[in-house]
Amino acid sequence: MRLRTLVRRWRTHPAAIAPVESPPGIREAAARHRGSLQLRHVDAGSCNGCELEIASIFSPVYDAERFGIRLEASPRHADALLVTGPVTRNMAGPLRKTFDALAEPRVVVALGDCARNCGAFAGAYGVEGAVGDVVPVDLEIPGCPPAPEAIVAALRNLAGS
Ligand code: SF4
Repeated sequence: MRLRTLVRRWRTHPAAIAPVESPPGIREAAARHRGSLQLRHVDAGSCNGCELEIASIFSPVYDAERFGIRLEASPRHADALLVTGPVTRNMAGPLRKTFDALAEPRVVVALGDCARNCGAFAGAYGVEGAVGDVVPVDLEIPGCPPAPEAIVAALRNLAGS
């Protein structure tokens, strides 16, 4: 896609730069984060569609880092857990361990319909359940996959930026 087209698309999506309403718990978390949100991402069984959109929010078009949102390599350095996909049986244990490795107070974000309710994979033999069946979820971002504008808006609410 040409740069001019990308810039035009960014300009026609004000949600990418405008914060949206958030529940009280998220507002409290945002007050703690004060514009800096470090995320540890766990793919618990995604089809990788959600990962493509996560990657796109860090592209020059959406540039989530300008809002203080960053991916961390270690859960020890993260404020929040960003989980995609239904939780497969193989990933339930690693997801619990990663959750335990985050310092309190921690936040869990379920990104995509699969993370929220197993989506297209509901009832599949290898699926343990939704993210909320394995670790407590604080924020859900709906969509299959969610649009990058929606991801940026939701994470900005959590970051307080
Ligand atoms: S919500 Fe959609 S894009 Fe995301 S992991 Fe599930 S099927 Fe893939």
